[in-house]
Amino acid sequence: MNFLQQANDLQSFMVDARRYLHQNAEIGFDLPLTLAYIEDKLNEMGVSFQRIGKAGIVATVGQGDKCVLLRADMDALPMMEDSGVPFASTNGNTHSCGHDMHPAMLLGAAKILKKNEDSLNGVVKLLFQPAEEILAGAADCVAAGVLQNPKVDAAFGAHIMTGDPAYKVGTAFYSRGPALYSGDACKIEVIGKAAHGSSSYQGIDAINIAAHIVLALNEIISREIPADEHSVVLVGKINGGLTVNTTPGNCVMEVSVRTTTQEKREFLLKRVQEIAEATAKVFRGEAVFTHVYGMGPLVCDEYVADCAGESMAKVGIDAKVVPTSSGTEDFTAIAAEVPAVMINLGASPEGVELFPHHNPKMVADEAVMPYGAAAYVQCAVDYLNK
Ligand SMILES: [Zn+2]
Ligand SMILES: [Zn+2]
Repeated sequence: MNFLQQANDLQSFMVDARRYLHQNAEIGFDLPLTLAYIEDKLNEMGVSFQRIGKAGIVATVGQGDKCVLLRADMDALPMMEDSGVPFASTNGNTHSCGHDMHPAMLLGAAKILKKNEDSLNGVVKLLFQPAEEILAGAADCVAAGVLQNPKVDAAFGAHIMTGDPAYKVGTAFYSRGPALYSGDACKIEVIGKAAHGSSSYQGIDAINIAAHIVLALNEIISREIPADEHSVVLVGKINGGLTVNTTPGNCVMEVSVRTTTQEKREFLLKRVQEIAEATAKVFRGEAVFTHVYGMGPLVCDEYVADCAGESMAKVGIDAKVVPTSSGTEDFTAIAAEVPAVMINLGASPEGVELFPHHNPKMVADEAVMPYGAAAYVQCAVDYLNK
């Protein structure tokens, strides 16, 4: 069974799907045309499926005890497209992150899996996931039970990559262990007491306290984290004071925290809060810490990552292990529950100017899709056979 060859035979089917989804780009959980198209194609293939969560679809192929989940996100971004392709979207939303190709590749994979259903050694769940760009869809599908009935043993996510000539079609990149950093935003409100600038002793200077907090926070990375473990604690914004001649009674600081493991994430957030509160107290003020939003790190399971590496090689993909990168991806919500890996497939077109993801001019090479579909299928089949 050569899955790349089978996927190559489906290229026009996948191109049609991709271009329809591209032209009708929809965002967040509001995906009526996208869902209708995917359901229509699954019906034509005779693949059974159901809705999951607010706007997901989970299809299943095969039978048995083991279960593998394949994930494709399908939401666009709210921006006017400027790519110049003939099938460009004109509705104010743009597929500038490749979430049009992901479901097209997963539909291709569904066709191949259905054709080979009798030889499958278990169940393959195909998850068409909404709302990745707002980091909410994966968690919503998990909460709705996508990893249960049957219980998922391993999950594979795929994403295309463009914007750099190194991301050639036929290459892929994945990580063993930490793949993407956590990202958290916190707010520290320093409360002092305003007073006339000529009588500062009657007030409590909130900007002075904030300055001490900034310096004290630098202690965390330089003294409390091993030198070879990269993390970030960044005061990205400070806003305080009223006028040049008033002792500032209030100062708001915004702090960004990024790191590679959940354990370190919890440690860093705890230390930011402790240092802010204690430093404010030293200078007679008060600090109120608020966690504004955040997402844990994406940690890929080493065994599942190795399986994916072997499977990708079988379908002719030149797959390389790469170190952790500092982006975010809501597949994290799935990888936190079951052993999982995220594979990034090279899709940079040749001979045209390249633009990064989330740029309205972003273009990706459709030649990536057979590799993507074949990788989905081979990863699932091989994992079920182990
Ligand atoms: Zn994106
Ligand atoms: Zn994306």
